[in-house]
Amino acid sequence: MLTIDLSAIQANWLRISSLSRGSAAGVIKANAYGLGAATIGPALYSVGCREFFVATLDEALAARAFLPAGSFIYVLGGPRFGEEQEFINANLIPVLCSLAQIKGWAKQNQLQNYPYPSAVKINTGMTRFGLDICELKSLCDDTDLIKAISPVLFMSHLACADDSLHRLNSDQEKMFADCASYVKRILPDIRLSLANSSGVFLGNRWHYDLVRPGAALYGINPQPAHSNPMKSVVSLTLPIIQVRTLECDASLGYAAEACLPKGRRVAVVAGGYADGLHRTLGKQPEGDFCGQRVKAIGRISMDVTIFDVTELQLPNEQLLGKSIEVINEHFTLEYLSSKNQLLGYEVLTSLGTRLKRRYLPGGNHG
Ligand SMILES: *Cc1c(COP(=O)(O)O)cnc(C)c1O
Repeated sequence: MLTIDLSAIQANWLRISSLSRGSAAGVIKANAYGLGAATIGPALYSVGCREFFVATLDEALAARAFLPAGSFIYVLGGPRFGEEQEFINANLIPVLCSLAQIKGWAKQNQLQNYPYPSAVKINTGMTRFGLDICELKSLCDDTDLIKAISPVLFMSHLACADDSLHRLNSDQEKMFADCASYVKRILPDIRLSLANSSGVFLGNRWHYDLVRPGAALYGINPQPAHSNPMKSVVSLTLPIIQVRTLECDASLGYAAEACLPKGRRVAVVAGGYADGLHRTLGKQPEGDFCGQRVKAIGRISMDVTIFDVTELQLPNEQLLGKSIEVINEHFTLEYLSSKNQLLGYEVLTSLGTRLKRRYLPGGNHG
């Protein structure tokens, strides 16, 4: 059971919103980092979040259906070839990342009787999406073209914001500021956006008009060099579905990689690599049974994982139906990700859709 605390997500958003100089959006791409966008989006809306970012048209169409009217939905990848009219029909704001996308949007927009807004993204160091500087200049020099896409947001993305000492943070901010002042000469009212979760914690200079937190909302530490300022959001418990005491020395699991001597006790829990546990829990998974630490043994299989429960007090029959916690206040996202050399992002987005999700209710603030 994957338990997701909506009130913690709301508190994390409110915290970032109060820290930031402008407003705060909510990034709910990849199904809200695997946690369930259809539930989390409305919970964010109810505490005041009005702007949402997703990655693709499909995610945006889903979001249009579950978010209240009055939500602004930005699509980070922009329209792929031929998708423009679908964006317009669902009132989605594309993040235009190339001159080709800009021309496509301008063309489709001119066919409407109302100019549909867009966001424009530039590359300041990530070198993934976004216009390069000379492309931006050529866009700004073509007043008809830039007006035809009706840009309302000018943005870029930080590459190293989780390392506050990295030189690129200042370089990117400076380049963004220079480009923004250039754009503002033509579009004085355009809003500016640079910071992801970690960018918010770099300081005011990175905030501009809109910050775009994702990870921090879900409890991932935005500044790994410091203690985590965010509330923890997820816990994962795996039910014990079989328990045995070994009658003789035995090998366990595929490839007989592990062996235990006669008399040890093992519990099989529901949850395996199809649920993402090989990534989340790594090579030597650990768990927590009512405060006692237990270790997995043998390879994680597709549907189940075996734990050595010899040291637990309860007899076998009483272990059945109880659960082992593998993500909780002791086994935090941070602990798991550093132990397994992963990012907190990977831990969350690896959790499979088969795991039952349970939501602790959030507050309704309006
Ligand atoms: C994913 C993403 C974000 C959110 O980043 P976090 O590090 O999860 O806060 C913000 N902006 C862009 C462009 C993104 O792709």
